[in-house]
Amino acid sequence: MEESKDLTIVITECPACFRESGGEVCMHCGETLYPKRITFSRIIQDIPDVFFDVEQGLFYTIRTFFFDPGVQIKRYFAGDRNRHYKPLKFILFIGGFTTFIYAKCPITNGKPETAMEAFGTQWNSLLLLLQMPLIAFITWLVFKKRQYTYGEHLIANSYIIAEVSVFNILIFPIQYFVNGTNYVVICYLLYLIFILGYYSFAFYDWFYDRRGSEGLAKSIFLTLGIFVVVLFFTVIIQSLLFVLFVKLGWA
Ligand SMILES: [Zn+2]
Repeated sequence: MEESKDLTIVITECPACFRESGGEVCMHCGETLYPKRITFSRIIQDIPDVFFDVEQGLFYTIRTFFFDPGVQIKRYFAGDRNRHYKPLKFILFIGGFTTFIYAKCPITNGKPETAMEAFGTQWNSLLLLLQMPLIAFITWLVFKKRQYTYGEHLIANSYIIAEVSVFNILIFPIQYFVNGTNYVVICYLLYLIFILGYYSFAFYDWFYDRRGSEGLAKSIFLTLGIFVVVLFFTVIIQSLLFVLFVKLGWA
């Protein structure tokens, strides 16, 4: 005889939003419907989560976006969102971390840094945050036919920009090792090549599913175009902010 499974779902009141729901978690707000009693040993058991919950999403995002940026962007849009680090949090965290290490240990090619250059390092995450809407506007304009909203372009570009910044953190030990020499310039060039390569790859993956040489060529040209515009924009914005912050006494 086949064992018959009990398929009845018990409807109960959600302890958080007070609406009726069934299953293990509330279908309205996502809260657990049958919370376990809080005991001292449970609190102790939960301590590792404080650290790992944060990092799991972070490393998952960094890893998956490295190999399949376009696939991940589309999955995020489709609703696979909880496993990923929140885009704004991602860019702020990575930008903040980059600023922190490069401010603690300034990397130069031996020549003294100008106040403007030091300023650029110090406000790295702010500059990233300002570049993101501009890049999103360009990709939105270029791929208007794809019917992604500007908001979706913002999200996708925050992930891409944060991901290339991760690489800036990864090359820090090498930069530290060659600090004060001209090899620093070579490191910058390698980083630049990586940025351009990763952006081209991300666009190719996102908009062309990595298919066709025409799509690849368009992705590379778009990346180069964005690079020129962003460079121009950053020089202007950085100068304006620098003057402003000096006046305010922040720099
Ligand atoms: Zn609920």
